[in-house]
Amino acid sequence: MPRTFESLADIVETGFCIGCGLCKALAPGAEIVMQEAANGHLRPVAGRSPAPAEEAAILRLCPGINVTGPFSADAPPLDPVWGEVRRVARGHAADPGVRFLAAAGGIMTALSQHLVESGQVRAVLQVRPDGTDALASQPVLNRTADAVLESAGSRYATCATLEMLPEFLDGGEPFAVAMKPCDIAAIRNLQAEDVRARELIVLTIALFCGTVPSLQASDDFLARRGLARDDITAFRWRGHGCPGPTVATARDGRTFEGDYAEFWVDNPWTTQFRCKICPDAVGLQADIAVGDAWPGGWPKGEDEGWNAVIAHTEAGARLLADAEAAGRIVLQEADVALLSDTQPHHVALREALAARLAAVRVAGLPEPRFEDLGLAACAAAVDTAVLAKNFEGTLRRLRDAARDAPAQADYTP
Ligand SMILES: Cc1cc2nc3c(=O)[nH]c(=O)nc-3n(C[C@H](O)[C@H](O)[C@H](O)COP(=O)(O)OP(=O)(O)OC[C@H]3O[C@@H](n4cnc5c(N)ncnc54)[C@H](O)[C@@H]3O)c2cc1C
Ligand code: SF4
Ligand code: SF4
Repeated sequence: MPRTFESLADIVETGFCIGCGLCKALAPGAEIVMQEAANGHLRPVAGRSPAPAEEAAILRLCPGINVTGPFSADAPPLDPVWGEVRRVARGHAADPGVRFLAAAGGIMTALSQHLVESGQVRAVLQVRPDGTDALASQPVLNRTADAVLESAGSRYATCATLEMLPEFLDGGEPFAVAMKPCDIAAIRNLQAEDVRARELIVLTIALFCGTVPSLQASDDFLARRGLARDDITAFRWRGHGCPGPTVATARDGRTFEGDYAEFWVDNPWTTQFRCKICPDAVGLQADIAVGDAWPGGWPKGEDEGWNAVIAHTEAGARLLADAEAAGRIVLQEADVALLSDTQPHHVALREALAARLAAVRVAGLPEPRFEDLGLAACAAAVDTAVLAKNFEGTLRRLRDAARDAPAQADYTP
């Protein structure tokens, strides 16, 4: 009989934490601070033991151990990898300035701008640079198109995206969320039992997420250029082109650049274990999910910026149509073949997941509540040798390495 998670500490020590900060919000009495751990990812550190009710809420809602997908028994037939498919398109922001500044085609920024400017929401929950440390990120409710634009670009770094969620809900304003799939999983968990979260969080947009690198990855980028965190005033992982250069700006004004491959190929041992067993890294639970649109999943150089987009829900499809009609985004119709071609690493992860989770069970770790994710159907599509390799690799890692030790990203060409 597999054991269940018993405490906040259990989640962190077993390597299931993704550093979202929701537990800090759920357990104010525990005086949790989100601190950079030895693996370079943010982890909750409790000043006091959470009260039993607080700990129970963490165990029910933490997205590290609770993810429920759309593949329930009463759902219509879904695409085994991509879930509910209302519309798939290739596209970009209509505004060339947005398209240039954004990570890829700027669809996430353009949709978020449309939502606030059309009055459908008062704000969009996104991430932006933390003013104190150029590598740090913080969650923010953006209320204007200009503020949304300041959140454009992918931040390849750990961020406690949900640590301020109750504060944002206290504001009583309807808002959307444009973040990672695991952030959306946390929102869905909260919405399942909190009427205020259901009423106020009216739309969710997820990015496809090939893993979140640790802050160590950025430290290593700086170290290769003779810099440390204190030496820089700004850091940009992506954007200003597609993918755009990675750029560190030093206090003396000099800039230091790298290319896209550096974070994923030269420097891959910076992901967290939980990303290796992520049961939804493609935003199955979001109204809309957005990613890059490079054929084969890897950039062949700089391009003008394109996104692959999927609307999972009617609300998502409506937003795409509405933003298109308003001239915010440009879309070309496509189908799931576009997603599978541009996201081969996500297809492979979905197919490998059942085997990796079987290894987690055999290693004696507690059982996460990963439900309705269609993992058996995904596994059925691949050769048993692939499943065996994933099972063995995960089990070996769990036997040999500390549970929350840095792992190698799956996302390499
Ligand atoms: C950690 C990470 C891994 C990714 N992996 C993949 C992948 O495997 N495949 C793929 O196709 N695309 C991946 N992306 C997404 C890709 O880089 C683009 O963000 C996506 O294509 C949307 O492009 P855009 O131009 O519409 O985004 P933009 O218009 O630039 O908007 C970016 C949005 O992402 C949000 N965001 C940025 N960094 C973070 C963060 N650390 N945490 C939460 N939200 C954040 C911003 O708040 C904003 O809403 C990843 C992004 C990140 C941050
Ligand atoms: S995943 Fe989020 S809610 Fe769960 S323990 Fe980590 S920081 Fe807390
Ligand atoms: S791979 Fe999954 S767990 Fe890791 S950061 Fe991305 S969405 Fe979150």
